[in-house]
Amino acid sequence: MIVPGGKAVRLAESLGAMLGESNVINSRDALEPYGKDEGSCPLHLPHLVVKPASLEQVQSVLKEAASAGVPVTPRGRGTGLAGGAVPVRGGMVLSLERMDRIVEVDEANLSVVVEPGVIVQDLHRAVESRGLFYPPDPASLDSCSIGGNIAVNAGGPRAAKYGITRHYVLGVEAVLAGGQAIRHGRKTIKNTTGYSLTHHLIGSEGTLGVITRATLRLVPLPPVRVDLLAPFPEVAAAARAVGRIVRGERVVPAALEFMDQASIRAAATFLEREVPFLDAAAHLLIQLDGKDGDAVLAQSEQVGEICLEEGASDVLVATGSHAQERMWAARRAILEAVKRLSHHSDFLDVAVPLGRIPEFLDRADRAASGAGLSLANWGHAADGNIHVAIHRREQCPGWLEAAGQLTDRIYAAARDLGGVIASEHGIGWLKRKALAASLDPEALALMRRVKQAFDPGGLLNPDKVLP
Ligand SMILES: Cc1cc2nc3c(=O)[nH]c(=O)nc-3n(C[C@H](O)[C@H](O)[C@H](O)COP(=O)(O)OP(=O)(O)OC[C@H]3O[C@@H](n4cnc5c(N)ncnc54)[C@H](O)[C@@H]3O)c2cc1C
Repeated sequence: MIVPGGKAVRLAESLGAMLGESNVINSRDALEPYGKDEGSCPLHLPHLVVKPASLEQVQSVLKEAASAGVPVTPRGRGTGLAGGAVPVRGGMVLSLERMDRIVEVDEANLSVVVEPGVIVQDLHRAVESRGLFYPPDPASLDSCSIGGNIAVNAGGPRAAKYGITRHYVLGVEAVLAGGQAIRHGRKTIKNTTGYSLTHHLIGSEGTLGVITRATLRLVPLPPVRVDLLAPFPEVAAAARAVGRIVRGERVVPAALEFMDQASIRAAATFLEREVPFLDAAAHLLIQLDGKDGDAVLAQSEQVGEICLEEGASDVLVATGSHAQERMWAARRAILEAVKRLSHHSDFLDVAVPLGRIPEFLDRADRAASGAGLSLANWGHAADGNIHVAIHRREQCPGWLEAAGQLTDRIYAAARDLGGVIASEHGIGWLKRKALAASLDPEALALMRRVKQAFDPGGLLNPDKVLP
């Protein structure tokens, strides 16, 4: 599918008249920021960017695009890591950035209604000021949108206790490729009224419909929070501590994050500030929360003891918000930091069953050494979700090919150990080939039929997710 320039120019003119000229972009310089995301997908310029401000405008835009045969790539804030918001076939980028209202916080029914362009941190602040809590907390929360979170089913550190985006979406309003609006779900936690279209749209990465509104579930804000940082001399010791905390003692931490030495050092360099225990082979960053201060403190002592028994050289405890933010700064900076380790970085987002984490890390490291490449590993240990960054300092011939082969070996290791190749960043464009090797052919064929049912013309985010 190649979009003839003339079609896009005519579409830009008609949409400019409808939305106002400042909300339709087609000059090269202004298009550029919409041709990439935060991952390693190469730049692909769209022919035009359109910024609707209402459901009705999204409907009209999609109707016009369908009759002109122009492909449409929905976009939240472009922080994705899999190329999902990159317009790989050109055409139109449909940016939801102007639809950024928190429509209603319903305290009585523990829910909030939002437009898709709301920044996740703004949503957190709005509900927390009323003693309510929206737990999903991707590390990009100060810049990503709730629409993008729903579209990729984003996770975050607090998934350890509270789950992922999917667990908080009660209902959505979305527009299909031809412009028809569908609504599914209400302010109820339970809903078995037909197939769950809400859950089809969650994680569909803009390939089935454009999310224009969502009703989200809230929970009471836990008033007490304690954070612990434990440095370990060996990765295996940190992994043993994770196993004992989660499986052995059955403590449910709000977050249980793992960082290896390469990622901690990268973060320290990036932040240009002192980060403790830089010589440790691995850090665990553990958060405990709850209603009862004594109970949370008792649990944090129990977790600290486990870490020390498994070989941690120390355990730092933070109870005030300033100290807690400092403790989390390195963790939150890792992704930006490891990007700077190399001319090109690939971020993998695998998950393995909890007990297989040490084996996975060992296999990934051995594969990297064999390929002459380096890894930085970090992630959400309680979910078995490990991010792997493959990097090399110097640009050298054949490096990208070697990194591609190493990626295949790491994916194979995750699959062999009973895991998955994509946990929270989606498939997008970068991982679509790996998807075929990760699913039964029957499951893949059914996914194609689902896509066909939602978007028979194949105009919505083409070339994404399905290989
Ligand atoms: C520093 C950093 C840290 C990160 N940490 C995490 C993390 O901890 N956990 C995590 O899960 N992710 C993380 N991410 C990845 C990224 O922030 C998430 O994938 C996020 O959900 C993307 O939101 P966005 O608004 O930027 O979406 P975009 O990148 O704009 O789009 C992502 C996908 O969603 C689709 N889409 C966007 N909006 C809509 C809509 N309204 N309707 C339909 N489809 C839509 C797009 O077509 C695309 O396929 C991180 C990224 C960075 C850069």
